[in-house]
Amino acid sequence: MVYLDHNATTPVLPEVLEAMMPYLTTEWGNPSSAYKFGAKVKSVIETARAQVAELIGAQPREVIFTSCATESNNASIHAALKANPNKRHIVTSAVEHSSVLNYCMALEKEGYRVTYLPVDRDGLLKLADLENTITEETSVVSLMWANNETGVLFPVKEIAEICRSRGVLYHCDAVQAAGRIEMDVRKLPVDYLSLTGHKFHAPKGIGALYVRRKTPFSPLIQGGHQERNLRGGTESVPLIVGIGKAAELARRHPPTYKKKVRPMRDKLEEGILSSIPNTELNGHKTQRLANTTNITFHGIESEALLILLDKEDICASSGSACLADSDEPSHVIKAMKPEGSQSRSIIRFSLGLETTGAEVANVCDSARRLAETLRATLV
Ligand code: PLP
Repeated sequence: MVYLDHNATTPVLPEVLEAMMPYLTTEWGNPSSAYKFGAKVKSVIETARAQVAELIGAQPREVIFTSCATESNNASIHAALKANPNKRHIVTSAVEHSSVLNYCMALEKEGYRVTYLPVDRDGLLKLADLENTITEETSVVSLMWANNETGVLFPVKEIAEICRSRGVLYHCDAVQAAGRIEMDVRKLPVDYLSLTGHKFHAPKGIGALYVRRKTPFSPLIQGGHQERNLRGGTESVPLIVGIGKAAELARRHPPTYKKKVRPMRDKLEEGILSSIPNTELNGHKTQRLANTTNITFHGIESEALLILLDKEDICASSGSACLADSDEPSHVIKAMKPEGSQSRSIIRFSLGLETTGAEVANVCDSARRLAETLRATLV
């Protein structure tokens, strides 16, 4: 199998599984229990918290464990709105992940006003649009770091500085950026930042939320006293240990993405664009994650090409995995290129640390042959 869908999820690294194993077998106590068998696993939660904090330059106390980034995203916006009950305006973008967009749409039904900032053909925002849209009514801005479909990077530092200067809370969905580019919240005045383990080689079902010290936070999930009363629910110790170990390992990954993954991604992209007629890159050429390429194959239905690629054991996608079972065209490509039917003819290839040059060459060959086959059937 050639797996080029790392923006959907990544494999669990052997070191991560090894670190988790004791907490799936012998050390299964409840960390809130007073006796030694339970209480001793509390300390491994704190080790993991420090490991995740270190990945992003945070203090351990600023990290809350959640079940996934969907929860982290919802919890951040929820907390910001609770902190300013009289401010009922939210700013986000048209290309956010569904975990932000659908939550914002639900809030609109409750009477909140939401601005969905547009992007240009390269997937970039105009910072002037952000400046112009913030008013006295604005409570929170939620803008992602790296787009999951195109890899396009938003200028998060500038966004954070604008929000800070205008007294508005800033939430950043950093899910696709974590472990792929360097992050340091000491240099980035973000208030809330969402992560999920399964995009950087931990298992699915564990997320983290950075909340800057002194930033208002009221829990989305109410329950017991876990996570210092900030997120109820018995901690999933094995998964927390897993995300901690994965975060520790991920600190080493950004240079590998730059030096090893980017050249292979470029080879794949250039190979497809130069050898297959009527193909087009979606997303800014350079302001982009090193591992992602999103390409329109004009005149070809994404789903048809994906099925043929799958028959050759090649995993790619037509956009967000969370929406893969819906018939909707990509909202991201639609926002970038509203004309025509491009959004139904795209393939996203997202490479990983373990992708090889031979795999890339194989995918280039297959894509060319299969696109020719599909186009021949159309004539
Ligand atoms: N945000 C982005 C940008 C994503 O790519 C994803 C997952 O695909 C999520 C949020 C949701 O993450 P999770 O599956 O952990 O809820």
